[in-house]
Amino acid sequence: MKHLELLHEGKSKQIYACDKPNCIVVRFKDDATAFYNIKRAKIENKGEMNCSISSMVLDYLNRNGVATHFVERLGSNDQLCRKVETIALEVIVRNVIAGSMAKRLGLEEGIVPENTIFDICLHSELLGDPLINDHHAVALGIATYEELATIYELSAKINSLLVALYKQAGITLVDFKIEFGRDADGRITLVDELTPDTCRLWDTATGERLDKDRFRRDLGRVRETYEEVAKRLSNVLNK
Ligand code: UDP
Repeated sequence: MKHLELLHEGKSKQIYACDKPNCIVVRFKDDATAFYNIKRAKIENKGEMNCSISSMVLDYLNRNGVATHFVERLGSNDQLCRKVETIALEVIVRNVIAGSMAKRLGLEEGIVPENTIFDICLHSELLGDPLINDHHAVALGIATYEELATIYELSAKINSLLVALYKQAGITLVDFKIEFGRDADGRITLVDELTPDTCRLWDTATGERLDKDRFRRDLGRVRETYEEVAKRLSNVLNK
C-alpha cells in the first residue's frame, strides 16, 4: 500500500491519501494532549497500542453488524479505512458518571445512572466542542432528525457490544466518545478511533484507571496501561 500525501494532521493521528480507491490511511502517533492542547507529551508506544486496540475494537464492531470505516490494519501504526464524509458531531455515551458530566452537574464520579446517557457535542476545537442538542444540530445543518435517530440507535448498539467485550477483559466501560460519517450511499458509518484516549476504562476489580485519565491526572504508568488494555483485549478476542 502506497501512502500518498498527508491530508490532515490531528493531535493523535495523521490521515494520508493512498492508492486504493475511496480509502485513506490513518496513522496513530505517540503524541498525547489534554485540556485542549494545554498539556502535551509523547507516550512511547501509544501509537502502536492505540492502532492495535482500535483495530481490534472496530473489527469486532464490523463483525457484529455495525458499519465502521475500518478495513484492515496495515502495520504497527497504520490502518486502511474507507473515506467517508464526516459529521461534525462528537457523541458521548456514559454508563457511569465521570469527567465533565460529574464536574458540570456537581456529581460524584462513579455513580451508576439507571439509564444510559447520550451527549452530543459540536466538533469544533475552536469552540471547545460545546454540548449541543438535536435541535441545534438540525438548525446548524449538521444532521437531520432521521440521521440523529440512527446515530443514537447505533451508539446504543455500539455501547452494548463494547460493554460486553470489555466485561470479558475485566474492565468497566465508563464512558466513550464516538464520531460518525456518511458513506457514498449516505449510510451512517462509525469513524475515528475507540482507544483509551477516547474511552474511560476502569478495572472492574480494583477501580484502577486504565485510560487517558492516567495522563490527564498524572497518575503514572501511562504506557504500561495502554499495553495492558491491548493485551487484555487481544486475550479476549483471540481466544
Ligand atoms: N472524549 C474524547 N474527546 C473529547 C472529549 C471527550 O475522546 O474531545 C472522551 C473522554 O476520553 C471520555 C468521554 O469522552 O472517555 C467523556 O468525556 P467528558 O465529557 O467527561 O470530558 P473530559 O472529562 O474528558 O473533559
